[in-house]
Amino acid sequence: MLRTTTCGALTLDNLGENVILCGWVQKSRDLGGMTFIDIRDRYGITQLVFNMDDNPQLCEAARSLGREFVIKAGGLVVERSNKNLKIPTGEVEIKITALEILNASKIPPFLIEDETDGGDDLRMKYRYLDLRRNPVRNNMVLRHRMAQSVRRYLDALDFIEVETPVLIKSTPEGARDFVVPSRMNGGEFYALPQSPQTFKQLLMVSGFDRYFQIVKCFRDEDLRADRQPEFTQIDCEMSFIEQEDILNTFEGLIRTLFKEVKNFDLPEVPRMQYADAMRWYGSDKPDTRFEMRFVELTELTKGKNFPVFDNAELVIGINAKGCAHYTRKQLDELTDFIKRPQIGATGLIYARHNEDGSIKSSVDKFYTEEDLKQWSAALQTEPGDLILIMAGVKDKVRKQLGELRLEMGSRLGLRDKNVFSALWVLDFPLLEWDEESERYHAMHHPFTSPKPEDIALLDTNPGEVRANAYDMVVNGTEIGGGSIRIHDRALQALMFKHLGFSAEEAQKQFGFLMDAFEFGAPPHGGIAFGFDRLCSIFAGLDSIRDVIAFPKNNSGRDVMIDSPSTIDEKQLKELKIKSTL
Ligand code: ASP
Repeated sequence: MLRTTTCGALTLDNLGENVILCGWVQKSRDLGGMTFIDIRDRYGITQLVFNMDDNPQLCEAARSLGREFVIKAGGLVVERSNKNLKIPTGEVEIKITALEILNASKIPPFLIEDETDGGDDLRMKYRYLDLRRNPVRNNMVLRHRMAQSVRRYLDALDFIEVETPVLIKSTPEGARDFVVPSRMNGGEFYALPQSPQTFKQLLMVSGFDRYFQIVKCFRDEDLRADRQPEFTQIDCEMSFIEQEDILNTFEGLIRTLFKEVKNFDLPEVPRMQYADAMRWYGSDKPDTRFEMRFVELTELTKGKNFPVFDNAELVIGINAKGCAHYTRKQLDELTDFIKRPQIGATGLIYARHNEDGSIKSSVDKFYTEEDLKQWSAALQTEPGDLILIMAGVKDKVRKQLGELRLEMGSRLGLRDKNVFSALWVLDFPLLEWDEESERYHAMHHPFTSPKPEDIALLDTNPGEVRANAYDMVVNGTEIGGGSIRIHDRALQALMFKHLGFSAEEAQKQFGFLMDAFEFGAPPHGGIAFGFDRLCSIFAGLDSIRDVIAFPKNNSGRDVMIDSPSTIDEKQLKELKIKSTL
């Protein structure tokens, strides 16, 4: 080894030792008679000192070092007179007797420090330099810890990690596929997996019993802060289990992660029906760090000649605690918030429960103080609270009030990143109607089993059929989801029929799976966690980009390697793809 120790290790315990360190020049200070260099590696920073009187030549050499030069320096560990107690090595310095430049460096395009002057684009272009910075590297270390913890937990429970192929087959279900042309089979394409779903089910048919994989998945979707075209799942599957077993096993995984990585005791994860989550929070991934449940006011508000409420399918309200003092301007801000095109509501009604006990609403023309008292009782308001009410078509208004609830939660400081609240959402609908294609789509995926007692509804009322499907939500973010699978050919075929596949189409696309079901498929089910999202929640970050070593930007580009890129005519020809240029 070129070094005897790292830049984060030396303390007063090492006084008098001769050491050799390797690392990057963080900073140098030339004080005339003395030159100080801070040398940095992954483990920390150590101060090197060069003394003109002791060794003028070495001191000159030290003066010539630029930021980010890679050096090897040897010397004696001595006590510092000017101690820096903020870092572990801050009580010592190294009196240098030998110095070697291992490699020079150009001046980096931004500061390699915790607080940098580099903008996003520049840091993405030089990601390898950004990764030298502590906050960025620490995210990768956290990610590593989490991956190790996952592996330990699942290995101890007899899960086997199996790699499934990356070049697979394109199917029309789910998101858009990334495709890869096949040179050896001109005109044909592989697809990159959106998840290893069918393979992990086939492994169950093979008798693997418990499988997991920390695996890259690919979806060609429009990007958002928490999406990347390639992302990582903790993908799992088990045989001979019921839903309850999956919930317990993977609640255990998440609680273990919180304990081992964050030293946080996540309490037992509560469970909520999908229908209740929608009714109470207007979302299938409610942020349960705070309550602020919806209260239905439809009956209480009807028949007073206020057309907005009279004509609405649903009138719902929330109690914004302690917000009665909100000014007109603040209330207008909230109204503007819900009228933004992304939310698309038409208006917001409010009522203040004043400190003196009186209640005043924005619709006093239609409602008496007696009426308002009933609203207040329903929403359990106290003096000082603010009632916010929205009305409209059921599903839509729930979603809209859900957004307002989150906004109020943020304004009231109820969404602290250091507080964690997990939730299981259970019994999702099996199917969801898609306006565009005018047919039902599988809400989770087509391999999810309906609840046996609901199968009869498939023919009469498909939208009402519930699935044996579950999601885990942490702080309002879906971090994982899965289901008990169909393992019977006939039921799988019926499912495809309801999804609008002809028997031939189903056979062509998923025949391999249905055929496998005829060779002794065990009952099975599983789950997949979004590993990047989980890491970003653990790191207290909003974007998954910061927990990925080499992420893509918002246009799906890697600006460091400049990809995607065109390929030349010769390659196109080999692939039998006609150039469109
Ligand atoms: N493959 C599913 C997904 O990616 C997860 C599962 O059902 O296990 O969402």
